[in-house]
Amino acid sequence: MRPALDAPLCKGEGKGNIMRWLTMVMLALLPVATSAAPLLLRPAKVFDGEAMHAGWQVLVDGDKIVAAGPGLAVPPGTETLDLPGATLLPGLIEGHSHLFLHPYNETPWDTQVLHEPLALRTARAVAQARATLLAGFTTVRDLGTEGAGYADVGLKQAIVQGIVPGPRMLVATRALVATGAYGPRGFEPGVDVPLGAEAVDGAALVQAVRRQIGHGADIIKLYGDYRWGPGEPSRPTFSEPEMRAAVSAAHDAGRPVAVHASTPEGMRRAVVAGAEVIEHGSEGTAEVFKLMAQHGTVLCPTLAAGDAIARYRGWNGSEPAPADVLADRKTFAVARGAGVRMCMGGDVGVYAHGDNAREMELMVKAGMPVLEVLNAATAGNARSFGLLDRGRIAPGLLADILVVDGDPARDVSAVRAVRLVMKGGVVVR
Ligand SMILES: [Zn+2]
Repeated sequence: MRPALDAPLCKGEGKGNIMRWLTMVMLALLPVATSAAPLLLRPAKVFDGEAMHAGWQVLVDGDKIVAAGPGLAVPPGTETLDLPGATLLPGLIEGHSHLFLHPYNETPWDTQVLHEPLALRTARAVAQARATLLAGFTTVRDLGTEGAGYADVGLKQAIVQGIVPGPRMLVATRALVATGAYGPRGFEPGVDVPLGAEAVDGAALVQAVRRQIGHGADIIKLYGDYRWGPGEPSRPTFSEPEMRAAVSAAHDAGRPVAVHASTPEGMRRAVVAGAEVIEHGSEGTAEVFKLMAQHGTVLCPTLAAGDAIARYRGWNGSEPAPADVLADRKTFAVARGAGVRMCMGGDVGVYAHGDNAREMELMVKAGMPVLEVLNAATAGNARSFGLLDRGRIAPGLLADILVVDGDPARDVSAVRAVRLVMKGGVVVR
């Protein structure tokens, strides 16, 4: 699954080759189908972010959707693209990615953080961003570079400037952990090793929140609990006052907060501090999920990360699944039962970028109706992340569009059968 380098990168050195390569890159980035004319898309069905509609059409002009519905009147000169047997959806929104990580069965997390040069990690992230976009995920909430500093800010800029293809990114930069709580660890205590996040506490935590925002963070990510040592259970890290101060500093700057938390107490502190999203929540209880529902706190269940790790440990995918996987499904059901709003986010990076649909498949397998899963991956995530310009097929929104063969409302895996990806009105696949 390791991404292959594009062939032109391998061919020789020197200015002539670099120019030729740059030219090829520029050509590759040119829109496949751009025109001044409006474009009418005619699929068999349209999922508008909330419901499935047969016989709808979608009119795109420039980078926006201008109309959606049956029997649209179109301006003269409109081009038409017939897509028989296909379903059109809003571009999918990945709720929990790490573009600077690659699957742990290729290289363990510790090794990635400790031994891989920043340039290698960045080059791989470029390839992974492209794979993500081509899989129909036109936006990602990227929750920490895991030791790759602020490289996500640069990658986001490169995508915005059209230098490399990729999804629209919300970035969390380094993420924040309590001193001593995060890895890699197990070294002679006098040796400083690179960490997967910025370790900071007390008043310095507020400074670090502001510093990360100043350097480009769209989101603040806090680790609200973690294992202090091998074989230990997770325990809360930041105190409630620390959590409140960090969330308050982020909110003052207009940034939402994502909190990694698995324990009920770590989750509770994040909820009462006002965090928008809890990541994982794998030991959540009915009580803490009820609290989340009351506060409108979103849960990003990351079922796919647990599934992937179980497979790396030897599970072949047959039932009954290992205890951890069964527990994740059960907790997911408890959270849904409590009325918690669900994010679609799989912790992709633990498994291969471009395989983002895995979380959607596992949400269905864990009992969520498929239309609710499609909603979570589009309009739901857009709402949860404050992205009011996307996530639905409606006039005035960004023309971020995925067209797939078949009907994902019957089988969610149809989202993998990509026929067309459009980002901002430009067909990128
Ligand atoms: Zn993660």
